[in-house]
Amino acid sequence: MRTFLFLMLVAAAASAQQDFSRVEINPAKVAGNVWFLKGSGGNIAASVGDDGIAIVDSQFAPLSAKIHAALAQLSPKPVKFVLNTHWHFDHVGGNAGFADTATIFAHENVRKRMQKGDSILSMVVEPAAPAALPVVTFEDGLSLWWNGEEIRAIHTTPGHTDGDAVIWFTKSNVVHFGDDFVTYGFPFVDLKSGGSVTGLIKAIDSILPQIPKDAKIIPGHGEVSTVDDVRKFRAGLDEMVGVVKKGLKAGKSVEQLQKAHALAAWESWGGKNKFVSAEDFIAVIAEDLAKRK
Ligand SMILES: [Zn+2]
Repeated sequence: MRTFLFLMLVAAAASAQQDFSRVEINPAKVAGNVWFLKGSGGNIAASVGDDGIAIVDSQFAPLSAKIHAALAQLSPKPVKFVLNTHWHFDHVGGNAGFADTATIFAHENVRKRMQKGDSILSMVVEPAAPAALPVVTFEDGLSLWWNGEEIRAIHTTPGHTDGDAVIWFTKSNVVHFGDDFVTYGFPFVDLKSGGSVTGLIKAIDSILPQIPKDAKIIPGHGEVSTVDDVRKFRAGLDEMVGVVKKGLKAGKSVEQLQKAHALAAWESWGGKNKFVSAEDFIAVIAEDLAKRK
């Protein structure tokens, strides 16, 4: 896990020292009422229409003014709702910046984890300020009737964390997957926050039959994708779990699987700058399998 810890430390340091003044946030239309705002951190989706604005995730606190400015290009109306996909600081960090006008919604575990604070591997996450906390929490999901459509928040089985929600804009035909689908390569699965690799596969399996095949997909990180991209991601995860499971059953250690480049076939995923290395993902899969025995 050494490389992984190191990478996470680098990521933590980078986000702490990141020069947010250089981040540009320009809204791009996805479909129907839904806009996509990329900046730094998790992708934001915005529903913009006659009722006002609802956003999915809020990135980092120092970016709130830029997010407000980007949304002001689309509508003079205020943000009335914030839906969080999970508790990680790059998705909820800006919550307080919208709390004046918005009601914040999330799965109950998001509120619990934000309120308590924790560490994500070696990164310390302080308890969130009261204004940043979700005001409305749900167990399985909820529907928000807004801008002429049903916006469905669906809680999945533990995947990236144990508080994940996938947000489906039913009429606009857009789905924000949170970090249950990412395009940066091997996914970060936060076992400590109740996540699971095998659970992530199940989570995707529970969502895919519910959504239209031609839905546009907003990943937690990365560019707008297709349902087919999610299927490929899911198939890859399943194959990788299979490879690690088989190796462990044959009596190989995690170190041996790492040295043998057991996941070499997937190393091209997400390009060169990987957030999670193949070695680290092998270790995470093995730890998850051991937990679930
Ligand atoms: Zn995350």
